[in-house]
Amino acid sequence: LYDRDGWLWQDGDWLAWREATTHLLTHTLHYGMGCFEGVRAYAGPDGAQLFRVAEHTRRLLDSAHALDIPLSFGADELITAQRQCLIRNDLTNAYLKPTIYLGAEGLGLRAKGLTTHVMIAAWDLGDYISPEAASIGLRALTSSWARHHVNISLCRAKTNGHYVNSMLALNTAVKAGFDETIMLDPEGHVAEASAANVFLLRDGVLHTPEVTSCLQGITRDSVIHLAREVLGLEVIERRITRDELYLADEAFVTGTAAELLPLRELDGRHIGARTGAPAPGEPIAPDSLTARLQGLYRRVTRGELGDDLQGFAGWLTPVQGA
Ligand code: PMP
Repeated sequence: LYDRDGWLWQDGDWLAWREATTHLLTHTLHYGMGCFEGVRAYAGPDGAQLFRVAEHTRRLLDSAHALDIPLSFGADELITAQRQCLIRNDLTNAYLKPTIYLGAEGLGLRAKGLTTHVMIAAWDLGDYISPEAASIGLRALTSSWARHHVNISLCRAKTNGHYVNSMLALNTAVKAGFDETIMLDPEGHVAEASAANVFLLRDGVLHTPEVTSCLQGITRDSVIHLAREVLGLEVIERRITRDELYLADEAFVTGTAAELLPLRELDGRHIGARTGAPAPGEPIAPDSLTARLQGLYRRVTRGELGDDLQGFAGWLTPVQGA
């Protein structure tokens, strides 16, 4: 990952990729107190464009504020830096990871005078998930690890340290032969996948967990808008139990990296068996709601707006001109 050409942005300067190192006593390395984003850019009809970069940047700044990390950069500067990062690295279909972390001025939980740093890395992502894999989707296992409680961590913040919990859950499921995990909140209601939100469809209505124990995903928000405004569906945010996922007609997960992936099986139950959904491992039906939402999300991110999606043009920010 590190021995290659390219440029990273750090605190307003450009660092050669190979030389972009940080001190071993960097506070965030020791305690996980930091925050980050995952943002994507896609090739559009008029060149590369960032998808919902304003919302991602706002969530980054909100994360820092919630963690009480002071920052001297504002949203406009960080958006410009993300655009420049793509231009400088000659990237089009890309993933960006802006990260806010604390410096090496002190160790220990009471360290004072720590400096705040911001870095942005970007790399080529291409078609991260092939169309075949996007149609086959995931077999998942409910995790024995609980997701966040609101008095344990800040669910609105995308905090580095939160991902220990995600990785414990994901790694357990992967070792057991599954693709993904579904995490429950401490009371046993469905929270989210390891790095994606969850939706289920039952009798033509979409349901997704409210955001007490999961990240307020930007893809989740995009899918809610597309489902309501383009497909005219009802979408309900509420507490959901794991057996509701077993009994769903369709289910899927959403995230910036995953986009929208069908959830085909949970704990050995074939989701949608009752309504004749193809077996896990076979492609989903092209007329399923999951496939239709995948298509809409694909078009909106790639700037293929047509007449029906014109209202979402504001989600796209051109990269050039920064
Ligand atoms: N939950 C978690 C824990 C995540 O890491 C992510 C990925 N950022 C998501 C949900 C989905 O969020 P988004 O759609 O904003 O990428």
